[in-house]
Amino acid sequence: MTTTGREQAVVLGGSMAGLLAARALADFYERVIVVERDELPAGPVHRKGVPQSRHYHTVLLRAGQVLDSLFPGLVDEFVEAGASMPNLLLEARFRLGGYQLATVDTGSLAIQLSRPLLESMVRARVAALTNVKIVDNCETTGPHFTDGRVTGANVVYRAGGRPDLLEADLVVDATGRSGRAVAWLTEQGYPAPAEDRIKVGIAYVTQLLRLDPNLRPAQDMILVGPVPGRPNGFVYAAQEGGRWILTVVGMAGDHPPADPEALLEFVARSAPPDVLDTIKAAEPIGDPKVHKFPASLRRRYEHLRRFPEGLIVTGDAICSFNPIYGQGMTVACLEAEALHRCLATGDTDLAHRFFAEAATIVDPVWQFNAGGDLALPEIEGDRPLRTRLTNRYVARLQRIAQHDPVVANAFIRVIGLLEPPTALTRPGILARALLGGRSR
Ligand SMILES: Cc1cc2nc3c(=O)[nH]c(=O)nc-3n(C[C@H](O)[C@H](O)[C@H](O)COP(=O)(O)OP(=O)(O)OC[C@H]3O[C@@H](n4cnc5c(N)ncnc54)[C@H](O)[C@@H]3O)c2cc1C
Repeated sequence: MTTTGREQAVVLGGSMAGLLAARALADFYERVIVVERDELPAGPVHRKGVPQSRHYHTVLLRAGQVLDSLFPGLVDEFVEAGASMPNLLLEARFRLGGYQLATVDTGSLAIQLSRPLLESMVRARVAALTNVKIVDNCETTGPHFTDGRVTGANVVYRAGGRPDLLEADLVVDATGRSGRAVAWLTEQGYPAPAEDRIKVGIAYVTQLLRLDPNLRPAQDMILVGPVPGRPNGFVYAAQEGGRWILTVVGMAGDHPPADPEALLEFVARSAPPDVLDTIKAAEPIGDPKVHKFPASLRRRYEHLRRFPEGLIVTGDAICSFNPIYGQGMTVACLEAEALHRCLATGDTDLAHRFFAEAATIVDPVWQFNAGGDLALPEIEGDRPLRTRLTNRYVARLQRIAQHDPVVANAFIRVIGLLEPPTALTRPGILARALLGGRSR
């Protein structure tokens, strides 16, 4: 531990971004307190503050790497707890832009487990750190300011409604997309960050299923993405406890119905016949669950000239990505690493340095997603020449990736955030795009 006079840090919000930030802070502060409004369950149980947990949550390849470096051995523990780890693309089927990626051994293993199990296992690891305390049933009403600097967090313990001040050298806001950091800042006379939005009009409907093991499909994960003219798709994946999760997504108002029979008809619009058969043969567990997501939202904290000392913001509170790309938790992992790097080089100008690093993480992901969204004519938005050319190139590559294992692997690495989207324009891939396109 390198604390160098840093006594206490407080993290607001105990979901993935808050837990990961706490892990980073624990290497630098004598004490780290995580404040969470919900009552935290002992095990993998859904809770009110994370309603999206009922829906499919992928742990991208990059997140698997970061989680295992922050918490050594955690991925093995996921497997012991029942997570499935299909080999991409031998045991997982991806259909992107209407084309199925070639069946090839990429050497990469996906991690599939339910969001509550993932979060509860990360939380257990964070709670086991000797200098971290997680306080649940405790709501923050905002940072505490002294002479324009944040010096702690105001909280209210939900049992009894007792208010308290938790003093802190650093407060990290990880209260998610609907967190109130912007209001807290403007109330103190600080400017609000500019916001970028992409209206995607998404609805998720998720049904858990139990499968007859004899009817198990050849792959442990099947993902079909939207295409122009059909802005919907689904993912069907094995999880712990012998359960399968079917998450159906529709964009631009083309929403899946929550009625089980009508949902099957909706899935039939995009599901290959063999997959549809196994879904139909499965036994539903509980009722379908619905989640609406109107727009991707990015807050440009990196552009603010004035920002209080002693505070940073992380996770979905900075950027809430279109969930169909499954990147939010990976970006939270990368932001935790960035926070670690920033703290390792001192406290001076911490917030500006952190927001600048976070922006370099968010930028390529946001741009790539915007391109993907705008490839669908159903999504509103400007399509400058660059976007149109990029989308034509990506569509061409997706067609080639049906047969070309190198291009298919390149997609898997970019989608998994192991590589930036620019990896798709490296000379080797560019050449395949040209030659592959010509030969077909
Ligand atoms: C439908 C859907 C599907 C998704 N699928 C994926 C996926 O496949 N892969 C992926 O990586 N990401 C996915 N995401 C994104 C992912 O859920 C988030 O990126 C992730 O949860 C990290 O968010 P966070 O911790 O910043 O905020 P959140 O998860 O929103 O958590 C905020 C926390 O703060 C607490 N809180 C809020 N206000 C207060 C307060 N005043 N005081 C105390 N506590 C407070 C809340 O109770 C909650 O625990 C998906 C999102 C949605 C909506």
